[in-house]
Amino acid sequence: MTTLPFPAAADQLAVDVSSVRNQFPILQTEAHGRPLVYLDSAASTQQPEVVMDAVRDYHRHHHANIHRGVYQLSQTATRLYEEARARVARFLNAAEPAECIFTRGTTESINLVASTWGRSNLQPGDEILLSTLEHHSNIVPWQLVAQATGAQIRVIPINDVGELRLDDYRRLLSPRTRLVAVNHVSNALGTINPVREIIAEAHSVGALVLLDGAQWVAHGPTDVQALDADFYAFSGHKIYGPTGIGVLYGRRRLLDAMPPYQGGGDMIEQVTFAETSYAPLPNKFEAGTPHISGAVGLTAAIEWVESIGLERIAVHEQSLLRYATQRLSAIPGLEIKGNARRKSGVLSWVMLDPAIASLDIGTQLDLYGVCIRTGHHCCQPLMERLGVTSTARASLGLYNRVDDVDRLVEALAEMVEHARQKPGPVGTRAVPAAGAEHLSLVSNATEGVTVPRYPAAAAESPEAAAADIADLFAFLPDWPMRHQHIMDLGEKLPPMPEVLKTAANQVHGCQSIVHIAARLRPGAGDVIEFLADSDANLVRGLIALLQQLFSGQRASSILAFDTEAFFAQIGLDQHLSMSRRNGLAAMVQRLRQLARQHANA
Ligand code: PMP
Repeated sequence: MTTLPFPAAADQLAVDVSSVRNQFPILQTEAHGRPLVYLDSAASTQQPEVVMDAVRDYHRHHHANIHRGVYQLSQTATRLYEEARARVARFLNAAEPAECIFTRGTTESINLVASTWGRSNLQPGDEILLSTLEHHSNIVPWQLVAQATGAQIRVIPINDVGELRLDDYRRLLSPRTRLVAVNHVSNALGTINPVREIIAEAHSVGALVLLDGAQWVAHGPTDVQALDADFYAFSGHKIYGPTGIGVLYGRRRLLDAMPPYQGGGDMIEQVTFAETSYAPLPNKFEAGTPHISGAVGLTAAIEWVESIGLERIAVHEQSLLRYATQRLSAIPGLEIKGNARRKSGVLSWVMLDPAIASLDIGTQLDLYGVCIRTGHHCCQPLMERLGVTSTARASLGLYNRVDDVDRLVEALAEMVEHARQKPGPVGTRAVPAAGAEHLSLVSNATEGVTVPRYPAAAAESPEAAAADIADLFAFLPDWPMRHQHIMDLGEKLPPMPEVLKTAANQVHGCQSIVHIAARLRPGAGDVIEFLADSDANLVRGLIALLQQLFSGQRASSILAFDTEAFFAQIGLDQHLSMSRRNGLAAMVQRLRQLARQHANA
């Protein structure tokens, strides 16, 4: 692979990346013996030392509960918390600090508006406009409120490069539109939406606008008054701050008229058992003890970002985005999803030829020390529109440099080369050759039809099979070797007959497509056997392990076996947590369900 020259403009990067990187201890660490390349800032940014120091300093010297304490410590904590609010207000250019409500993050900010403004203002016939680009956290809260109020959801479509279709947007707007809720920047594609225009158009029909700013605030200056936004939401952990803290900006007029979100301490004026009057803004929306140290950390993060300058950050990230786009596009068979004219530092792609499932790209890059995100990015409707179930996504932060992109591209190039050299279904996706759907079919002589060949028991019990697997894994001391072994098992797994890949046999995993066909072995009591398949080779390898454990075993033995403990024993839980719903947990559940039905057969 030839290395493309880095664009000339980037020779004078606006940001001194080395000095930035020195402030992030985590960027000096290694993953799987290689220097860490962190390309997942859209999921969560890393924290500079000043943020960690501010939080530590708060805990060491200033912590107490806020607002109610009469002693000095509590008053200092209160001051720090309220100063954080004032800092956020200046950052967003809100008219006053009371318009900035602290929440747990973007998700809670949106839920707050949906639950309070939505439930008290929407009625049957009203419409909420969302877009195809939305994160689930800007879809599901509106679905909940639509169900509760009878309002309807309408969706602004996108064009093929991932931009909102503004002509359709204008057509969808009507006096029925009460609220437009769109993201400022798409987390899955990086599209920067023309939010000023969107807001002006919405206001012209009397609708309000909520902007999900999760993916914007760390990448360019925000001015809610210049935008004329009604609500603006963001999360601390996407702007180099702590997790568990976020902000909802709302116009005072709107927030004042909204009912409280949660009830509890600190949000009241007067409580009797007959009735309660509520505290004024912002306390009305901040029931209970808030995330005080989070607010302190967020202040430090905002000050840090501003000390570098959001314009400079944008110049740096845009140069890197151009470079990364050129280099990724030069990999044959790789298709970038999302090519909007205005984009932030997000690169989403799929590998088509050779076909490599996103999950496999992600887990293999991990072995090179490269952290990216794979899956649907909490944007399933967008994935459906793009005609994929998942993408691999690299996202840039202020600390990324040309070298990070080079490491990503070199690792990908090696992976592609390796996949090309594999015969048949490339270490990746089981694409059955023509007629290969019969590979696992055998003739049933008596009935003269073909039936799938289900694997027989690999050992006398799941425990015995587990012991065999554990013995083998003990020879494979680290994750790279275990990963390779699972990938090898995946390559050897016979493809599942296409006829069995029905909707009913599909299990819904987060990261890949998985089908499983389980049955009782005919004439063998409660013996369960199964076939399964996935587009991700890693999952195919896990299927092979599951088959070794369970196929051909009695229902009661399957139920008695603790799969999670076993996966922990062989070290899979660290890298493939069951709770990630990557299809594995769903498969196990499917098997256990069948086993429960037939345990006493
Ligand atoms: N909206 C967008 C566009 C996002 O990218 C995210 C996080 N991925 C969220 C909302 C939710 O943010 P949080 O999980 O911090 O609440």
